Amino acid sequence: MSRTPTSIEPVLGWRIWHVDPTPGGPRLRSWAHSTEWPAGQKVEAHCRSILGLALPAWSHAAPRKGHACGVYALRDRAAAETMLHELGEAGPAFNRLPAALGRVSLWGRVVENVAGWRAQFAYPYDLVLFGADDEIAAGLRRDYAVDVALA
Ligand SMILES: [Zn+2]
Repeated sequence: MSRTPTSIEPVLGWRIWHVDPTPGGPRLRSWAHSTEWPAGQKVEAHCRSILGLALPAWSHAAPRKGHACGVYALRDRAAAETMLHELGEAGPAFNRLPAALGRVSLWGRVVENVAGWRAQFAYPYDLVLFGADDEIAAGLRRDYAVDVALA
């Protein structure tokens, strides 16, 4: 079993998010699990394997090779755009939440896979918004301190 490399230099991958316009300010949410990405704080991956939850001795820092745990990111912008398009139009005009496409910094334990990476820690790097307006863009820029553009 090879050891999982630890990355000091952040890796930049691509992701998509929902943008949840909460009263406290817009928040990014993972597409798959609806997990909030807190503004100003890194996201840390946790393994949800049943054995790890039941038996502390089996728990481990995420990600681990052979598991599905970790924060996912894609290597190519085109792959993230394809994913976004397959999910359909975003924004209130389509009765959907706005969406964000952007780069994400990955660090800590980083496992490379075919399409990209799974990482221990992640934080957005920059965002392009779909189905959003200037107010949402300004809120994300202020709270997450990242570059935000409207598509
Ligand atoms: Zn795991």
